[in-house]
Amino acid sequence: MKETEENLTEYYPCSECHAGNLQPCRVTYFTWIGNELISVPHFPAWVCDVCGRREYDLKAVTWLNMILDPNAGRPTTKHRRTPPPLRPQTGTPRPIRDS
Ligand SMILES: [Zn+2]
Repeated sequence: MKETEENLTEYYPCSECHAGNLQPCRVTYFTWIGNELISVPHFPAWVCDVCGRREYDLKAVTWLNMILDPNAGRPTTKHRRTPPPLRPQTGTPRPIRDS
């Protein structure tokens, strides 16, 4: 039995320039939650040492979205908001009944 799932010293080849390696570093991650700008300092990311391409750690992004999502835990994350059709305000005649 060999455990080969842990790759502690992994360097990803850059998919942008194919010359450099993405190296782990910490950056400040900015994201919008609704209309609030959230900044997360010391966020794990990978930066190419040649072209500077930056990729965020997918696991960390997923984790961040999970804790920031107010609807976390819900099965659907799709916001299906269809605005109601505009109704012209015509005075609809109502039958007047005296009680
Ligand atoms: Zn690169």
